[in-house]
Amino acid sequence: MTDLTAKFKDMKIRYREIFLKSAEAIKQRVDEIKPLNFEGDIFDEFEQNSVGKQWQNAVLDMFENDISREILRKWSEILAYRNNFECKGCATCCNLACSEYSPEELKKRADNGDKFANQFTKIFVPYKDRSQAEKIYPEYLKMLSENVEGEVYFYHCPKLTDCKRCSDYENRPEICRVFPDNPLDILPETCGFYEWKKEVEPVAMMLHAMVEIIEWYKTKIKD
Ligand code: SF4
Ligand code: SF4
Repeated sequence: MTDLTAKFKDMKIRYREIFLKSAEAIKQRVDEIKPLNFEGDIFDEFEQNSVGKQWQNAVLDMFENDISREILRKWSEILAYRNNFECKGCATCCNLACSEYSPEELKKRADNGDKFANQFTKIFVPYKDRSQAEKIYPEYLKMLSENVEGEVYFYHCPKLTDCKRCSDYENRPEICRVFPDNPLDILPETCGFYEWKKEVEPVAMMLHAMVEIIEWYKTKIKD
């Protein structure tokens, strides 16, 4: 097992632990606003205007106006804290971008108004074959092949010069300017934001778990 594969597996274990704790915390908050002496379950079907329905609405309202705002505020703090770190110019992110989408699929998405795909397709081109991408970050490709089901496509940016400089730095798109904007992404240790990722990762995992759990509640609470 490569070092990165071990780290990835460890990350999955930690995420699971955080997910279970977050689920417990959200359940507690749901129970805290349960009407006194009410026997029903939050996922039961209730008549409109019934006590159960009012509870469900209060829970949905708490998700929307309380917990979601809390998540957004904490996520903004994580991103603001990122400003204390800076790019070290290792060029890994320019040399190796991965996507679950093929070049054709990305093009289609860009044509359909997907902002990320639009910027991505303007700068990144696909590697001719996997072995070229492998030279950039072999551990990463090995980790992906051992852990990710389904196809992964590898891209690089031709605007990167031989001395690892961006030849169009002033005009680089937003996706380059904000990278990395998610501490849950895998970053190489050479990245100037690696320490940022390590520091904020537990909180980012908790926020990610909370979003997943809230979405799950929303789909299970019947209209
Ligand atoms: S446009 Fe510049 S910063 Fe963006 S990926 Fe290409 S080389 Fe890197
Ligand atoms: S991987 Fe990190 S340090 Fe390297 S070029 Fe990209 S942002 Fe900069």
